[in-house]
Amino acid sequence: NMPDPAIEIIKNRLSNVKHKILILSGKGGVGKSTVTSLLGHALAARNPDINVGILDADICGPSQPRVLGVHGEQVHNSGSGWSPVYIKDNLSLMSIGFLLGSPDDAVIWRGPKKNGMIKQFLSEVDWGELDYLLIDTPPGQSHSVLTMSQLNGRYNKFVHFIYLLYRPWLQALRTNTCRACSTCAGAGAGAREGAGAGGGGGARALLVTTPQEAALLDVRKEIAFCRKVDLPILGVVENMTLFVCPNCKTRSEIFPASTGGAGQMCVELAAPLLGRLPLDPTLARCCDNGLDLFEELPDNPTVLAAR
Ligand code: ADP
Repeated sequence: NMPDPAIEIIKNRLSNVKHKILILSGKGGVGKSTVTSLLGHALAARNPDINVGILDADICGPSQPRVLGVHGEQVHNSGSGWSPVYIKDNLSLMSIGFLLGSPDDAVIWRGPKKNGMIKQFLSEVDWGELDYLLIDTPPGQSHSVLTMSQLNGRYNKFVHFIYLLYRPWLQALRTNTCRACSTCAGAGAGAREGAGAGGGGGARALLVTTPQEAALLDVRKEIAFCRKVDLPILGVVENMTLFVCPNCKTRSEIFPASTGGAGQMCVELAAPLLGRLPLDPTLARCCDNGLDLFEELPDNPTVLAAR
């Protein structure tokens, strides 16, 4: 198997990034982008010497420019690559949203073009020195095929098929080789070398879900996918766990955790539950208006939970 030159370029470009975190959800609308931006703000606020980059690779609905308050900004391509937009001195963003003529443009793109764009992003953005790169990924496309493959008893073959077809760029972000196949062994070795030379390790996955079974079902498949391709799992964040009425302080479960929520799933699948975030209208308002909740309302319950 010939090494893909684009994959090699990505590995070199990102070899110095200390922590690469892929934020995955499975189902759309569960708060993947919101958690990504909160995490970015939280990490950048924790220490001004820590540099955080967010790559909005959610080609179907790039929402980070709005959430981070830099909607409509222009990005420039210099000799060393695309320069991201700076939200703070130590927090930068690159989004497909900056490059689209109209927000509706990307919806009709098919897999190869989407993947080409993600590869291009990973290889051509000039991040400077980064401690954290948070990658807001497109919602998982693997579910239907994974389900099919499990039914057919041809799991490994299909996992590899999905991996190459839908997420070839993932190859450049992992340190380990895919357990589903032997063909990507070269990628694993290359990434490990990169880690040794530059101090940057392979990517880890952070999964976002709501307590609702429909979301948990999809996130279970993402966890299975991560394990098949040896992408280490950092943990799971449960979003929209509770709603506390601002007037009467009654606590309500808007999305019922009928099967025990993310807590039970994490126990069953031996994955760490990193935290739970409330359903918080203030957070939704901040996201719509591009405000930093950490600065606006440091005592807000979501901020306290996210810290
Ligand atoms: P995804 O990236 O998974 O598609 P988003 O992060 O875009 O989901 O969230 C979907 C919508 O829900 C957005 O309008 C966002 O502002 C809102 N939202 C997400 N998490 C919360 C929360 N904890 N409280 C209130 N609104 C939220």
